[in-house]
Amino acid sequence: MDYFKIPSPCYVLEKELLEHNLEILDSVQKASGAKILLALKGFAFWRSFELARKYLSGTTASGINEAMLGFEEFGGREIDKDICVFSPAYKEEEIDALLPIATHIIFNSFYQWQKFKAKIADKNLQLEKLGLKKIEVGLRVNPLYSEVQPEIYNPCIKGSRLGITPSEFKNGVEMYGLDGIDGIHFHTHCEQNADALKRTLEHFIQHFGDFVTQMQWVNFGGGHHITRKDYNLGLLNSIIIDFKSQFNDIEVFLEPGEAVGWECGFLIGEVIDIVYNGMFIAILDVSASAHMPDCLEMPYRPRVRKISQHTKEIQCDLGENAGKYSYRFGGPTCLAGDVIGDYSFDTPLQIGDRVIFEDMIHYTIVKNTTFNGIPLPSLGMIDKEDFKVLKTFNYLDYKNRNG
Ligand SMILES: *Cc1c(COP(=O)(O)O)cnc(C)c1O
Repeated sequence: MDYFKIPSPCYVLEKELLEHNLEILDSVQKASGAKILLALKGFAFWRSFELARKYLSGTTASGINEAMLGFEEFGGREIDKDICVFSPAYKEEEIDALLPIATHIIFNSFYQWQKFKAKIADKNLQLEKLGLKKIEVGLRVNPLYSEVQPEIYNPCIKGSRLGITPSEFKNGVEMYGLDGIDGIHFHTHCEQNADALKRTLEHFIQHFGDFVTQMQWVNFGGGHHITRKDYNLGLLNSIIIDFKSQFNDIEVFLEPGEAVGWECGFLIGEVIDIVYNGMFIAILDVSASAHMPDCLEMPYRPRVRKISQHTKEIQCDLGENAGKYSYRFGGPTCLAGDVIGDYSFDTPLQIGDRVIFEDMIHYTIVKNTTFNGIPLPSLGMIDKEDFKVLKTFNYLDYKNRNG
């Protein structure tokens, strides 16, 4: 692989690695009987969906744009794929646009369900006449238990707006009943192993078990790190199988995003300059702020390889200050804090060298901004050592975004 043939900067999806993830996810579907939906929030690289839909049961969306993308590029009812939508609050026009494409609509309150109940019932009459599957309706609940850190990613923090609490749920059932509700949804995980799901389900069943008996399905949300090497697939499968047998073979959904795009590609950039201010600082054409925002938000330090322009030698980062030559990697924006991290190597980094940031396919492209007019990285794919550019961006992407 000649990394210098790749335009810089560029996100590069490695197709075989994606397919490996999809095979793992499909093995869970087959062993447990659960359906797995791709959460577009974390992975919307739609030029790979032809592959993804061979394995996964559908997509999950947070509103109309993601649902449209799922419908157009992954497929919906007509090819027996699910398009599941959740939103903290839908506007009338959003529901109108969702009705023709969604297979599952999940509400965050009884009020929103009541508001759109008649519209969905009308649509379902039409679908029934055509012999098509009806739109299923769900409610998102808050089981008051989540192990997610930091708090910004924890949907069960005090005052959280996400999911109906057990007491509000009981009030809602007293006022409106559950007639017309097909399923219950919770999403309380982030990058977690199956043991967290096991503990969460105890709380979920304690609060909502009585209602689950009246449901067709339960959606366990995303945040299950199923494709990570140390993930306990056996435990996940047995949890799902036990849950299904406890609740009369109820349908179970999982909707991971990160686990689909996990470790299946990289972001490649170039060293534009190296300056000195008490330490060497490499200025790259990739930005923490515009291209890897979770570096600052989560925060985390991406793994790095450098590739020498002259020798083509590839070297992994040895850790902060562990190697002979140390550099702080910074982005091309004017944000003082646009710093990716400190890296060190056995040989010096040089202007013109390439730098690879590992595992940059999920929660990066979907979060990119044109802040500061910094060019958006191209999108490319490696398929069996063959690199192809799929998409490049230009000045108009920046201009159109601002007026
Ligand atoms: C974010 C999100 C997901 C996907 O989560 P991952 O951590 O990417 O697996 C699934 N469902 C809902 C409701 C979400 O908000």
